[in-house]
Amino acid sequence: MTKTVHHWIGGKTVEGTSDAHGSVTDPATGEVTARVAFATVDEVDAAVAAARDAFATWGTTSLSRRTAILFRFRALLDAHRDEIAELITAEHGKVHADALGEVARGMEVVELACGITTQLKGELSTEVAGRVDVASIRQPLGVVVGITPFNFPGMVPLWMFPLAVACGNTFVLKPSEKDPSVTLRIAELAAEAGLPDGVFNVVQGDKVAVDRLLEHPDVAAVSFVGSTPIARYVHATATAHGKRVQALGGAKNHMLVLPDADLDAAADAAVSAAYGSAGERCMAISAVVAVGAIGDELVARIKERAEKITIGPGHDPASEMGPLITAAHRDKVASYVNGAAAQGAEVVLDGTGFTVPGHEDGHWIGISLLDRVSVTSDAYREEIFGPVLCVLRVDTYEEGIALINASPYGNGTAVFTRDGGAARRFQLEVQAGMVGVNVPIPVPVGYHSFGGWKDSLFGDHHIYGNDGVHFYTRGKVVTTRWPDPADAPAGVDLGFPRNH
Ligand code: NAD
Repeated sequence: MTKTVHHWIGGKTVEGTSDAHGSVTDPATGEVTARVAFATVDEVDAAVAAARDAFATWGTTSLSRRTAILFRFRALLDAHRDEIAELITAEHGKVHADALGEVARGMEVVELACGITTQLKGELSTEVAGRVDVASIRQPLGVVVGITPFNFPGMVPLWMFPLAVACGNTFVLKPSEKDPSVTLRIAELAAEAGLPDGVFNVVQGDKVAVDRLLEHPDVAAVSFVGSTPIARYVHATATAHGKRVQALGGAKNHMLVLPDADLDAAADAAVSAAYGSAGERCMAISAVVAVGAIGDELVARIKERAEKITIGPGHDPASEMGPLITAAHRDKVASYVNGAAAQGAEVVLDGTGFTVPGHEDGHWIGISLLDRVSVTSDAYREEIFGPVLCVLRVDTYEEGIALINASPYGNGTAVFTRDGGAARRFQLEVQAGMVGVNVPIPVPVGYHSFGGWKDSLFGDHHIYGNDGVHFYTRGKVVTTRWPDPADAPAGVDLGFPRNH
């Protein structure tokens, strides 16, 4: 009997009633390990109602009580980080050390939420006019929704709901149907920390659940992370229904390697950032742009390192890279490698057809390295989301930055160089939301904000950090006069109020 993954509504497990369901698979074995019940419209409505009812008291719960709960939640995540990482590996496939990193980066945002008192202090100006003070405050929005992707089933929900609830909102999460179990464990830990029933809810589901959340009249805002086509759809649909929306999409992240770069450091970084988590990261480096004569040497050093990567089940401590999420995704990734030579690339490493003995039904693919990739080829134009690194050759910095800036995506990017002036120029000229200088995966710490440009983000706000606090609150400005009893009456004045 496989287990069934249910919803978490109003502080308890709620069994799904619909026949519509998905299958959760262990990517390392191909075995179906769970059945996930897809929410009906009524079940989504029940989750939103639970969140709306909880908001009536949570929105005015004192900051000290909110932060006390968040501190306890952080301690529970810390105590259970191994267990959470194991749940991630079992359904996503990434190796345990990588899953632990995901938990740690998610916890950074919980730490930011623990300090929400400072973020919500507001501003006060006294005596802006005679006996008049002005205060700017930020208040919660109400019910906020999160819709999250398969590739960070623990971290991305943690980017969203701790900060949202710290700001006084209540939350409904719709996690990926491919690896949904970890969010239920996180919900249990939040409840154990003292989060009142209904403040954080989880509905499992597919498009039916998402569409209901996007149009629901009681939902105030939507945070989405996923692929670009769905991000665009979520942004268009939810804004049409009057919601505030941040929708983070896909990526094609470039690493520009200048001729003066430390080639060993650049090769180490390219291999770690391209093949970590089997390339299933929105901040993975998927295109290296080699400037000048270093191309051959750089490719040789990348190849030498990439060939040594140990691929195997995520729970095996010897494994450095695990399987892909589904067999269908593995086949799609393989199709880019198989079509690369016909579109002009040199296939330096071909990871297609790879398997792990004893785990033949797992969703395996090996390491692929494509050199001299053309900007018009499918392997370059599309987000492959697998362990495939494309190398492109250019003669000059100017050619390199033009190539990067012509990409429709603008999530992360990196420059590798020893020249501070060139690095400074790159960080100012490149059209991307997150830039690394000799840092290949520049995912901002929790107290800065994460977000891309162009087709990598729809909406005005990046996620977490100061942008997150702004996204999950709205401003109010209060102008106050307390006249002195000795003041003469102001009298009627139909002129526009002036301060003097
Ligand atoms: P996805 O877009 O397929 O799914 C994301 C969420 O949207 C899931 O919860 C899914 O159930 C839902 N969804 C899927 N199709 C839908 C539809 N037609 N209508 C309504 N909802 C739908 O993404 P994924 O495959 O789970 O995740 C991988 C993608 O996410 C990659 O493109 C990756 O770059 C991107 N990603 C981006 C970031 C970022 O911060 N920019 C972070 C992580 C992942």
